[in-house]
Amino acid sequence: MDDVTISTNVHFCGVGQGLFVRGSTLIKLVRASAESQSEYTRTLLHWVYDCGSTDDKLVIDKVNSLAGADQRPQFSERAPDERPILDFVVISHFDCDHIRGLSSLLKAYKVKRIFLPYHDPLAILGEVFSSLDESARDVDPRDLIQAWTDPVAYIRRIQNGGTLGDSMVRADDDPTKIIYVPYSDDPAPERGNREPQYSDSPEPVMAIRRPQSEEVPSSQDADVSILTASSNVVWCGVWEFVPYVDPQARQALLSFKPAEKIKLDAQLEKIKTRSNDPKETEERLWEAILDLKLQFYKAVSRKKVRRGRSEKVSPREKNVISLMAYLGAVPSLPSGVWARIPDDKSAYPPQVMPNVPGWVRHHGDGALFTGDGFLRGSKDISKLVRFLGVSRIENTVLLQVPHHGSGQNGSKFTQDALNTPINVFCANPSESPYHPDTAVVDAFATWKDASTGYRQALRVLVNRLDFSVRLVTGARAYPGYYWWV
Ligand SMILES: [Zn+2]
Repeated sequence: MDDVTISTNVHFCGVGQGLFVRGSTLIKLVRASAESQSEYTRTLLHWVYDCGSTDDKLVIDKVNSLAGADQRPQFSERAPDERPILDFVVISHFDCDHIRGLSSLLKAYKVKRIFLPYHDPLAILGEVFSSLDESARDVDPRDLIQAWTDPVAYIRRIQNGGTLGDSMVRADDDPTKIIYVPYSDDPAPERGNREPQYSDSPEPVMAIRRPQSEEVPSSQDADVSILTASSNVVWCGVWEFVPYVDPQARQALLSFKPAEKIKLDAQLEKIKTRSNDPKETEERLWEAILDLKLQFYKAVSRKKVRRGRSEKVSPREKNVISLMAYLGAVPSLPSGVWARIPDDKSAYPPQVMPNVPGWVRHHGDGALFTGDGFLRGSKDISKLVRFLGVSRIENTVLLQVPHHGSGQNGSKFTQDALNTPINVFCANPSESPYHPDTAVVDAFATWKDASTGYRQALRVLVNRLDFSVRLVTGARAYPGYYWWV
């Protein structure tokens, strides 16, 4: 009889105000052969969800120390240049506190695939402007302009170690595949509605297409593709990544008149050209970026004012593009999650006094990473629930609380609907914007166990200390079994 165990280690890196999640998933298939002798195959996947912080040094040090630790024999697969391999990286959106470590990550690791939210360069500019304040001034404006307007060109440039202008020159024979994830209008394929089709292949199964010309930046790059809307990516037939982009992003980020869009597009093109000119000073480029920011906000505001709404650009307009990621087993098998509760009390928000030391165990093996997405009101939440389906929602035991625990993005409705026993807030409470919000931390105090009623949920603040959670699936799932670190 075929048997499967899946073991996922989710490591939240302490990078202060930011998000850097490093995951490893071991899929072990046990197949009965004709001679009734079992055959084993093991697939070990390494992945990352977001890699940024408002503290540049913190995230870069963390990337380099992890890459050093990953030079282990367990990494059976190495790039020709000996770098460890990441099977996939998900970038939720392009704010500094989510991508600042990306260039270090791409240098330290060979990355097979990167998933990005599908975007209009202007929409992304609107969104990233939220992080564009004085604190971003130590970042090279040329890097920012390229990362935001054409992330593929930016990624290629980092990988080639080249300077601006040679971004399409390939030094790598096997370039990173970049996959844009479109807006999720329809529900994802239902989870576990058929017998799992076990597969030994370490390559994921997914439906992608080539972009049409000009559909996305760098659409001419042979390794850029677009995922079929509302689809999932499946490894070995048993473990899935289900990306979600709120379809509202479309309206929220491009809510200005076509004529204004043309004007802004032209202004953006001009900035791009200027950033390729080595004679342009950083200061002048900053000025140009800030002016575009102003014009963009004015254009968004004009439309809103016409509709009788507030003139201010809302947090939603800045962050709604966030690419969320559900990860979990496809078949519904016995499963559990273990979290080592940190001994250090400073690992908890001040409101939390955990009363269960040691390991905690709950049923389920799904994790939901939300970036800075919106799951505050019932409308946002029901869209996500409809998209993922009840089975995945019930299977979700680990939540990265949206937007570092901001009161704009999460609420008691979020926890009522998702009902997650383990909730992680990644933030530095002593620094602006002072996440997490007390009301949100309180909202995640309990979860409802079907058999025993309300129980205390685990809430962990990941500031400087790391925090690890282990999700285990399979008939013989218990802590320590098939574990490799
Ligand atoms: Zn953020």
